[in-house]
Order: sequence, then structure tokens, then C-alpha cells
Amino acid sequence: MEVEVKLRLADAAAHAKLAAALQPGYKTTHQQENFFFDGTGQELSSRRVVLRVRFYDVDKKAVITVKGKQVLQDGIGRAPEEEEAVGPAAARAFFTNPAQLLSLGTPLLEGLKSSTGVTELVCLGGFNNTRQEFEWGGHLLELDETKFEWGTLYELECETAEPERLRGELEEFLTQQGVAHSYSTASKFANFKKRTLE
Ligand code: MN
Ligand code: MN
Ligand code: MN
Repeated sequence: MEVEVKLRLADAAAHAKLAAALQPGYKTTHQQENFFFDGTGQELSSRRVVLRVRFYDVDKKAVITVKGKQVLQDGIGRAPEEEEAVGPAAARAFFTNPAQLLSLGTPLLEGLKSSTGVTELVCLGGFNNTRQEFEWGGHLLELDETKFEWGTLYELECETAEPERLRGELEEFLTQQGVAHSYSTASKFANFKKRTLE
């Protein structure tokens, strides 16, 4: 189960202000390319299952993720999540030939086939995300700038076992720093699917 605090930042100015405030704990930045797949009969989306292939910094690393139904409430997201690393070159071929992804033969893909009955995949496209990582009070904060064709979203995420407490600490910090924010009400994938900026 992945549990994370998800706070939406109002705009580019809020994002820049927060990045500046977090600078003492700066660790790294990753350019993430995210691509999504569904069954040709919507076998995944009808079960609210998300299949994602993510590339890091073009071809440094690639990861396949299967997320189950996410519950996002009051800025806290909870979803079953399983991940597997995959060779970036092999993963690039999945767009033109999604059958190669489905027939990968790994526990993650075999499990997905048996739990959803999917027999053929289609690539839905995707979006790019710039993720800056910061150490903050013993937590790893992920500051995201997500680019869609129809606009840009700014979000702060942090995985934690104590989401309610961390959410309070983060909100206090953001308010102190004058960073306009709200609870995220939709995932990046949901915004991608609906072509929204919620
Ligand atoms: Mn995760
Ligand atoms: Mn997330
Ligand atoms: Mn995450």
C-alpha cells in the first residue's frame, strides 16, 4: 500500500517559492516520462487499475507500476501499488508493441493478467513530470511540475506511514512560507485521462 500526502500548489509562483524554501535540503531532480496502458476492452480502467511505465532522465532507469484503486481524501492518497524495474531499451518498445509488455513474464505482469483477465494492451500516451526531491524533517519531499498539453500542475507529495501528522506539519510550513496550496482532489493520471487541471 502506498500512502502519501498530496498537496496542490496554486501556481508556478507557489512552486518556485516552495522550491526556494526547501533548498537547504535539496537532493536531486528527475525528469520523469510517464506512459499508461489499458486493456483493449478497458479491463484495467474498469477495475480502476492503472498500469504505468515511467522513464527516469530519458534512459537512466525505467519502472513498471501497477496501482489499484486510489482513495484520495483530504490531501491523503492511499492505493495498493506494486513496482518492477525494467530495462529502459526494452521498455521503449512497449509503445509500438504493447504485447511485449503484457508477455514480459514477470510476477507483476502475470499477476495483472490473472487478476484482470486482460489479453491485449493499448498505450494511452502520457505526460512528463519534473520531480525535485528534498530532505525535510526526516521526510523525502517530492515537488512536482507536471506538464500536460492543456496546462501545468504543481504538487507536493510525500510518502509516509503517518499521513495525518505529516499533512499538518506540511500545511503549517507552507502557510508560514506564504505558499498557496490546497488538498489535491485528483491524481495526475485522472487529470491526464479527463484532460483537466483539477
Ligand atoms: Mn510509489
Ligand atoms: Mn503520487
Ligand atoms: Mn509516490
